[in-house]
Amino acid sequence: MSTELDLSRRSASAAPATPVNLAGLGIERLRTRLAEIGIEPRKVKMRANQVSRWIYHYGVTNFDEMTDIAKDMRAKLAADHVLERPQIVEHKVSVDGTQKWLTRYGPNVEGESVYIPDVGKSGALCVSSQVGCTLNCTFCHTGTQKLVRNLTAQEIVSQVLIARDALGEWPTSNEDRKLTNIVFMGMGEPLYNLDNVVEAIDTLNDPEGLSIGRRRITVSTAGVAPKIPELGARTNAMLAISLHAVRDDLRNEIVPINKKYDLKTLFEAIRAYPEIGNSRRVTFEYVMLKGVNDSMAEARDLVRLLKGVPAKINLIPFNPWPGSPYKCSDWETIETFAEVLNRAGYASPIRTPRGRDIFAACGQLRSESVKERASDKLKARLAQSESAAE
Ligand code: SAH
Repeated sequence: MSTELDLSRRSASAAPATPVNLAGLGIERLRTRLAEIGIEPRKVKMRANQVSRWIYHYGVTNFDEMTDIAKDMRAKLAADHVLERPQIVEHKVSVDGTQKWLTRYGPNVEGESVYIPDVGKSGALCVSSQVGCTLNCTFCHTGTQKLVRNLTAQEIVSQVLIARDALGEWPTSNEDRKLTNIVFMGMGEPLYNLDNVVEAIDTLNDPEGLSIGRRRITVSTAGVAPKIPELGARTNAMLAISLHAVRDDLRNEIVPINKKYDLKTLFEAIRAYPEIGNSRRVTFEYVMLKGVNDSMAEARDLVRLLKGVPAKINLIPFNPWPGSPYKCSDWETIETFAEVLNRAGYASPIRTPRGRDIFAACGQLRSESVKERASDKLKARLAQSESAAE
């Protein structure tokens, strides 16, 4: 008999009606869970590390595979817990190797994630932090979908598990991973869901978790200025800014959050980001919209605006979506724009559009999910109780 399971310590909450999913939980939550099911306090830390390694290094979905854990403890874990991923509604693979998943987090809550090969050391996963978005950037497809809800830390981490499953990356050695980088550039505004993003990054980074270095994790924001230094202090992740315009009047129009936090406020926040320097540059994303923000005067103003900020600039050819009001700048224009930046000493790669054929390119993500209104919920509940009464 194991001495580790002290059943008298079990709290009332330890026998859940529905099993608790451990996949996607961070080390702290795993510890709490193990303590709740009666694991001896002095063993909790060690056991949580073991469980975490099985979940994140080996990708197991069955407690029986956790071979260094005693059988009775495995049985105990299996009785009240599962190791599940959210349901994959759709998985598409582009001709260029890009992959996209539409994942269901709950009824009417579906979000997308995109794996892009050949980014960073070998490939990046673009994760969503929200389903829908509140920002309404005029060139972005996600912006046409109202916010449904924030994703939990577990749901954010599960996007990485799903990609690792598909890429056949279990167990993963550090050297030959296909998925090395994480970018928070999917649906939603990460800084409007900062607590969950911070918790997810901790799990992604944890050596007993997914073990992805903080320099390989980039968080992109449209400019929630007051949260930018906080993001740095709490995550030490790399920062990306969706800039797209160099004048307040234009930015107010195409990235409306600029009306709340203008360029001056935004740049003050960026300069306060911890540890920026030549080895830790801020990425500025700049979508190339024909006749809107792509003049040479704007390229020169961009150089002026970035003065003193260690930066690289990602020029993103605009990716169209049904009903989008813009055209992508001509290739020649994009190249001349890049040249102005290069001459000023900035690395300014033009981002090759990836996965356009499966609608997985920047700004093309969107799902059909809509937020249930309170009145809809009430109607659904009434219908349910009526059918139960029949
Ligand atoms: N809300 C965050 C995270 C989303 S990142 C942010 O704005 O940074 C998604 C990136 O794709 C952003 O830089 C966004 O501006 C860009 N983007 C949106 N729509 C696009 C489109 N149609 N074509 C190219 N890039 C687009």
